[in-house]
Amino acid sequence: MPMTENDNIMIVAVCLAANVPKIFRYAVPQNTELSPGQFVLVPFGRKKLPGVIWEAQRPWQKSDPPKDKLKSVEQIYDIPPLSEENRQFVDWVSSYVMSPQGAVLKLLLSVPDALAPEKPVTGWQVSDKRPSRMTDARRRVFASLLPGMTLRTGDLTEAASVSASTLTSLAKEGALIKSDLPAEILFGTPDPNYRRVQFSNEQTEAVTKLTDNLEKRGFRCYLLDGVTGSGKTEVFFEAIAAALANGKSALVLLPEIALTEQLLARFGDRFGCAPALWHSGLTPSERRRTWRAIAEGKVKVMIAARSGLFLPWRNLGVIVVDEEHDPGFKQEEGVIYNARDMAVVRGRLADATVILSSATPSLESYINARDGRYYLVKLSSRHGAAGMPDLSLIDMRLDPPARGQWLSPAMVSSMQDALNRGKQALLFLNRRGYAPLTLCRNCGHRYACSDCDSWLVEHRSKNIMACHQCGSVRDIPDKCEECGEVDCLTACGPGVERVLEEVGQVFPDKKAAVLSSDMVGQSGELQRQLKLIQNGEIDIIIGTQIIAKGHHFPELGFAGVVDADLGLGNGDLRAAERTYHTLLQVSGRAGREASKGTAMLQSYMPDHPVLQALIAGERDLFFEREAEMRSQSGMPPFGRLAGLVLSGQDLATLNHFARDLAAVIPTSDEVRVLGPAPAPIARIRNRYRLRFLVKAGKQAKVQQFIALWLSKIKIPSQIRLAIDIDPYSFL
Ligand code: ADP
Ligand code: ZN
Repeated sequence: MPMTENDNIMIVAVCLAANVPKIFRYAVPQNTELSPGQFVLVPFGRKKLPGVIWEAQRPWQKSDPPKDKLKSVEQIYDIPPLSEENRQFVDWVSSYVMSPQGAVLKLLLSVPDALAPEKPVTGWQVSDKRPSRMTDARRRVFASLLPGMTLRTGDLTEAASVSASTLTSLAKEGALIKSDLPAEILFGTPDPNYRRVQFSNEQTEAVTKLTDNLEKRGFRCYLLDGVTGSGKTEVFFEAIAAALANGKSALVLLPEIALTEQLLARFGDRFGCAPALWHSGLTPSERRRTWRAIAEGKVKVMIAARSGLFLPWRNLGVIVVDEEHDPGFKQEEGVIYNARDMAVVRGRLADATVILSSATPSLESYINARDGRYYLVKLSSRHGAAGMPDLSLIDMRLDPPARGQWLSPAMVSSMQDALNRGKQALLFLNRRGYAPLTLCRNCGHRYACSDCDSWLVEHRSKNIMACHQCGSVRDIPDKCEECGEVDCLTACGPGVERVLEEVGQVFPDKKAAVLSSDMVGQSGELQRQLKLIQNGEIDIIIGTQIIAKGHHFPELGFAGVVDADLGLGNGDLRAAERTYHTLLQVSGRAGREASKGTAMLQSYMPDHPVLQALIAGERDLFFEREAEMRSQSGMPPFGRLAGLVLSGQDLATLNHFARDLAAVIPTSDEVRVLGPAPAPIARIRNRYRLRFLVKAGKQAKVQQFIALWLSKIKIPSQIRLAIDIDPYSFL
């Protein structure tokens, strides 16, 4: 039989950057050789999708799709291939979080536009030569482009309201000079020796430990555990400097982009330039260029939100996870992952040093360090003279605020002291808005979201009521929607806006401001407020969770927690731990500089073990107690959990399917399945929600168990299933 060209057909496996269930096979175009890691464009249905060659090419086999059905790789991008380490990372994350490889690759290939090289930006200048002929359009060009000026094509065509062809024809005649402009520089080359810091003995020891491994170039994970203000940032900067000196790159992950500003300024002080940035606030062009620079190995240091872990990194030497205890590292939608844990995985694959940094480590990391899986580096004292603030509890049963108010007399007088000393005061309340609940005094009607199982929160500053689950808003009605009575709506409980109102009455001559995550969306608003605080233009700061994070308020003399009990009551596995962290972080805000500060917690249950541990300053004792409780009940980190959340618009269909799913739970000695139970928030965005909780021993293969379970049943198209390995949210 004569050989046809087709007989030599070669096949490659392509991982598409899309939420598709598997790796697909494509034909290699004639006279082309493809190797793993290359970025390609392939046809998929009616679309074209980017992807990465996942395995080496090989001849067509009988088990492959028939030759006439096979589609060819369409385009090969001119960009360095995705390294094996990155591909292993995608595979690893995919199998751990139980999302397809394509969905994980899509996180990594989040800027498909970056695969094509950047088009040079064209600039225009006038030359000495005049054009042969003048038109109105040409006249406008010369009116907009004065001698000595350079304008980009877009700017010039807009200013002169001409088309690009007018410019081209002028250039042909030599009347305009066209040139390629260098792209604007997004980040510089950090200099590890730009500014050296005089370290204390304890800090020096920490630096030595953290940098010890960088030259050996093997994986190592550290827990950098140091009180607020002890110099953790200065110390991990040295690890970054050491990585740079070794020709490696460094990645710093932060739980929240709002934190980057202060870290940026400090980074500049230490390294003499700006680092690369990665967060949701970048412009499309910044994203494209940053992604490409990473792919080309040109980024030395990046400060990033959790998604920065999913970039085509080359040559990573250090990964820092700052504020590692923060639940913000958990991505709760789409591919559900914990960036802190995945950073450790990435570090292992990259033979890099991983530094988890926190003043209040997560119990997981604390136990890992205690049991020797992570190297522990401790910083026990604050830099300079500052001591820990004096921390005390106010028993609200004995020292209650006046009716309709939220600040007890003791709190007010401590604030007054700090203000008298010329210091700032901070009040923490983790509740956005004016009041968490609104009800009708006449009929008792409570205002709830129509699509969610959740109360509406009044935001008086914007004159709306908002659902904090789905974000929907409505105007505040002037009469009750239930009974029609006018002027009868009552706000129940405090939010930060209400505390601001009270502060205004108690301290009428002081300037107060609210900081809350409501501001994060409004570009620049949070930064503006932080500036005002830094400049001492604000006396009293009232804030939500956002202020518990790494912001540095040097002039703070008092930190008060309005409701220390908030969060202790909820049934979440980590409720105690989280409350402990938050309260410790907030109280640690006071007195970071030379003078000692005061911190106070208001509570109706001051005997609660969490609050007692805080007051006693016995952090490790609290951790040990908490660890013992979790260990007895087989909870993480001593056991494993996975959540399965089913949701659907029709409750009957959902219940029915949940019963069917429950009927096929595989039997296992190591794994138990609890549920189905209505999720604590039983409805969000008009979808009902049911949960299963998979509880297993530490060594159990939870993913295998779930895969086996789900293989026994088909999920109806109206129902969505989200798998959450190592859940943080139980809502
Ligand atoms: P942490 O990250 O543990 O909260 P930081 O690194 O932010 O601590 O340090 C707190 C403050 O003390 C910062 O203003 C920092 O610049 C300063 N600081 C810490 N260590 C030193 C040092 N060795 N020399 C000079 N300033 C230091
Ligand atoms: Zn809602």
